[in-house]
Amino acid sequence: MHITDIMQGDSPTFSFEFFPPKTPESAEILYQTIRDLESYMPHFVSVTYGAGGSTRDLTHDLVERIQTTTKLDPIPHLTCVCHKEDEIEAILIRYAKTCIGNILALGGDPPRGCSYDKSSDAFQHASDLVKFIRRFNESGAHPDRRGFGIGIAGFPEGHPSTPNRLIEMDHLKAKVNAGADYIVTQLFFDNRDFFDFRERCVLADIHIPIIAGIMPITSISGFKRIAELAGGARFPAKLLRALQRCQNDPEMVSRVGVHFALEQCHDLLDNNVAGIHFYTLNRSDATRVIFDSLGIPSRRIAQTPTV
Ligand SMILES: Cc1cc2nc3c(=O)[nH]c(=O)nc-3n(C[C@H](O)[C@H](O)[C@H](O)COP(=O)(O)OP(=O)(O)OC[C@H]3O[C@@H](n4cnc5c(N)ncnc54)[C@H](O)[C@@H]3O)c2cc1C
Repeated sequence: MHITDIMQGDSPTFSFEFFPPKTPESAEILYQTIRDLESYMPHFVSVTYGAGGSTRDLTHDLVERIQTTTKLDPIPHLTCVCHKEDEIEAILIRYAKTCIGNILALGGDPPRGCSYDKSSDAFQHASDLVKFIRRFNESGAHPDRRGFGIGIAGFPEGHPSTPNRLIEMDHLKAKVNAGADYIVTQLFFDNRDFFDFRERCVLADIHIPIIAGIMPITSISGFKRIAELAGGARFPAKLLRALQRCQNDPEMVSRVGVHFALEQCHDLLDNNVAGIHFYTLNRSDATRVIFDSLGIPSRRIAQTPTV
């Protein structure tokens, strides 16, 4: 379903992010997670895209499996990194054929452990990819006459590679002007960063919906990984203090992390957030606890899990 239809009405959207599993064991965990979360009928689920090679096929396969075997609406991530124009076009044709409604268009993280020459990518920035998808949409190759809905990334705490926050907003605006329909944010732990980002968007004349990215911390090792991967993520003292108090008790760490994320969600909902996107790390426990505690009226409840 096109994102404009998904976001119709005043209610905030709820969505989940998965990454493609690399081993049969992790695939089993993910499919169980999808079964667990399907009954919540999220407005959409998204699937991340790797930096190269076989993981990219895993994204396509997972997206198509979700599309054809569940009642969920998958949104694939697509990145500029290591792609020629004809490759991107082939991916868009493939997704259009399977009636995928939307794409999250991203710059992409560079591949690790190998040399990478950004200048040989067909698209240097996500805004170029957005423009290309727009042109594809105009060609009429998608079964929906509007083509793909297009999402882009936003960074409430600022993107580490553009320290000049005024210029960063210009780049965000360029993506919107290129044809983006909605923004999904990087994870954040202090809602004031999100609210301020939202206000700065309005000041920059950006008026598309902004979906907040939330990641509950469920372990100390996961917490350290977030600090590494979401470079520049700011951890409020309140959260650090709570984690420090129970750092030797894994069960309590998870409860503290989930409780913190739950409070963030309540506050976002009280302040008219357009949507909340949960970074699930392919596990359902934390997301289910939060979802069950938010008191969200159920949408269409899926009758039988299907994956
Ligand atoms: C919701 C979300 C999902 C993500 N999913 C994935 C994923 O699946 N796979 C993956 O590899 N990565 C993913 N990422 C990470 C993301 O790809 C990286 O953080 C990337 O560095 C930035 O992506 P972008 O789309 O903002 O890129 P861009 O918009 O291209 O911006 C990247 C940097 O370049 C700057 N910039 C933009 N335009 C210009 C310009 N014209 N001139 C100079 N500088 C410019 C920006 O200010 C920014 O600092 C995700 C991030 C988010 C928030």
